[in-house]
Amino acid sequence: MTITEPFSLPVPASTESRGALEHGHRVSVRGARKQYGALAALDGLDLDIEPGRFTVLLGPSGSGKSTLVRSIAGIERLDQGSIHLGDVAVSDGHRYVAPERRGLSMVFQDYALWPHLTAQQNVAYALKRRRLPAAEATKLVGEALERVGLSAKGRHYPSELSGGEQQRVALARAVVGRPSLLLFDEPLSNLDADLRERLRVEISTLTRESGATALYITHDQSEAFALADEVGVLRAGRLEQFAAPEEIYQNPATPFVAKFTGLAGSFSGRVVHSRDGRVAVDLGGDVVFARGSESLGVIDDAIVLIRPTATSLEAATDHPEAASASTVPLNSDSAFTSVSIPAVVLDVAYRGRGYEHVVECRYGVLGGVFDTRPWSRGMHCSVRIDPSGCIAFPADTGTN
Ligand code: ADP
Repeated sequence: MTITEPFSLPVPASTESRGALEHGHRVSVRGARKQYGALAALDGLDLDIEPGRFTVLLGPSGSGKSTLVRSIAGIERLDQGSIHLGDVAVSDGHRYVAPERRGLSMVFQDYALWPHLTAQQNVAYALKRRRLPAAEATKLVGEALERVGLSAKGRHYPSELSGGEQQRVALARAVVGRPSLLLFDEPLSNLDADLRERLRVEISTLTRESGATALYITHDQSEAFALADEVGVLRAGRLEQFAAPEEIYQNPATPFVAKFTGLAGSFSGRVVHSRDGRVAVDLGGDVVFARGSESLGVIDDAIVLIRPTATSLEAATDHPEAASASTVPLNSDSAFTSVSIPAVVLDVAYRGRGYEHVVECRYGVLGGVFDTRPWSRGMHCSVRIDPSGCIAFPADTGTN
């Protein structure tokens, strides 16, 4: 991290076109490419964020999240492509607008506070270039610190504050200048679980109150889903899917998206019926039902991806009512039904609101199988699989 100075400045007068005057910036990224040697950190990425929306970029380490956010901030320069904030091209083949002239603020994982300045002074620093009358700046700083619950600690230096308090100062500093765009680079990663949850709520409320557009990056699916109006899933420098969290969970565009947003497991099989986006897949004895991608036809090899929410446990039966390939014409809704497969409990973990189980059946292992009561390790049971949380893809698409 070379730049630790926040960029909470209004958009310069010369760029005050219609888009820039809206409080939240519209963000448009087109064909963004950033190469590090042979590696494309951004590989022709497109992204559009509507003004005032809270977007979370989710992706594994190395997928290009930081590079994208830093390029939008102006800390990195794209090799190719363009970035517009509002109607203003801040980066394209011809123009490059400096970070402090983009009307944005950024919150970093490591807080990036000036160690030699107090909390008040750190927040006030963000207003420095505004040249406000001292009394007005003091009032804004006081309000921002109060908003994050740190009024009493304004005179403390960062070394005298806890991690959570330091990140609150950084948050106050980010919002004090009313930026049009707030960028968050994994701001909760250095905090422990309880504090992470509380600060997440504060970030969500404060950002939404401010009316700014927000772009937040994380590799944590639950954090992404909790915060986002829209989630963008990144893979190898490209956006794999961009949609509301519910849509991503229910209709993942690719096996990668499904896997990265939480699977109990996956089973391989062969499509025995296909109709109106629904398929029946023979796993080799039992048939499960799933929503299927358009390209899946009868006798295709398929991979069935199973969300944890689609699984439940029930007592083992001697005669499981397994559907067989010959009884699943899929010509009525009643045929698109849950199935029960014999299984053995491998592990059980207490999760506060109940128990998560790992179970093994003849087609593979499923994790995250929830029940309010614990099932003992080694116990024979049946795992019920509901089609609402099953998505089938052609087998050769893989999940990696
Ligand atoms: P993420 O934020 O998703 O973890 P990054 O954007 O940090 O991903 O990195 C994307 C890829 O670019 C990674 O493979 C990373 O190693 C590489 N990379 C990022 N910054 C640099 C750099 N300054 N020099 C060389 N490679 C880099």
